[in-house]
Amino acid sequence: MKTDNSPPIRKELVDPFGRKIEYVRLSVTDKCNLRCFYCLPKGFKDFETPDNWLNFDEIERVIKVFGELGVNRIRMTGGEPLVRKNLPELASRISSLPGIDDLSLSTNATLLDLQAEALYESGIRRINVSLDTMHEEQFADITGGGKLQEVLDGLKRSKEVGFKPIKVNMVVMKDTSLDDYQHVLEYCLENDFTLRFIETMPMGTPGRDASDQYISLETVKNRLKEQYDLVPGIMTGGGPAKYYRINGTDFEIGFITPISQHFCESCNRVRLSVDGTLYLCLGQDDKLELRPLLRAGISDDELKQAIIDAVSKKPERHEFNEKPGQVVRLMALTGG
Ligand code: SAM
Repeated sequence: MKTDNSPPIRKELVDPFGRKIEYVRLSVTDKCNLRCFYCLPKGFKDFETPDNWLNFDEIERVIKVFGELGVNRIRMTGGEPLVRKNLPELASRISSLPGIDDLSLSTNATLLDLQAEALYESGIRRINVSLDTMHEEQFADITGGGKLQEVLDGLKRSKEVGFKPIKVNMVVMKDTSLDDYQHVLEYCLENDFTLRFIETMPMGTPGRDASDQYISLETVKNRLKEQYDLVPGIMTGGGPAKYYRINGTDFEIGFITPISQHFCESCNRVRLSVDGTLYLCLGQDDKLELRPLLRAGISDDELKQAIIDAVSKKPERHEFNEKPGQVVRLMALTGG
């Protein structure tokens, strides 16, 4: 409990390695209507029960406190965030909070066609959409039965509604061919979407992710260079992607390399899962369970102090390379 003599609560979150935490990935659900094998194994059923989900009041309170501690960027994610009911209402509440000046969304876009307008009106402007292939059958194989057309419809609608930028995230696997990259690339080029390639991390079906399907993006870049004149890009997004531009166009391609060239030294984020667990690192188990504290009536000052203390224990880096067979947590349960 803070008394009049206790020191004032600091206004920013800095970890022991001097990294300023200004970004929260907020998982609004661990459920997903797809089963991408690198994220959520087929047949997985061990989801959080609704009683353990943070409700909208609790989420709003935690994000408000983060805002008071200097966090200004929030990305809603999951699981698939659009399966959580009334997401636009939550988005409006978060985007109205003082200090939060950037609210974005990561989605698989399968349910976006119907919700795009309401989400835009709620204050979200930037979206990231997962899309690993333009081939229907391959899409169904990767996603455990998903329908590619739903994603394309969602993307089309998002563009009409006015989201900008729209970034397409493509997780690259050993089985992905040059032809696959090119199809997604040409589609993004035609639609003015930014394309980002991502290296697969060991956060999905054991044996069918990093250890089995990992390929360095250096290889991907070299293959692309045979077809396109890639020059260093200028795009910056406050994130880990390194951008290259196709010479003569303003089309930029991002490369996100958590495995071959990790970027932990510039990590500026923490993750809040649907059950109110604050994860300090994507690849480590260090965490603080906020839900019991919130439900036991913790004050805002105490909550701030608890978050500051947790951030003071943020690990230096993940160890995906050192422990390749180990899945610390599934991506869908963490909030990707
Ligand atoms: N359902 C939403 C979506 O599809 O974007 C949000 C959650 S998803 C976990 C967020 C991002 O994490 C997606 O771009 C997805 O491709 C990526 N992702 C999931 N598992 C991954 C893994 N094992 N390695 C690298 N990226 C992964």
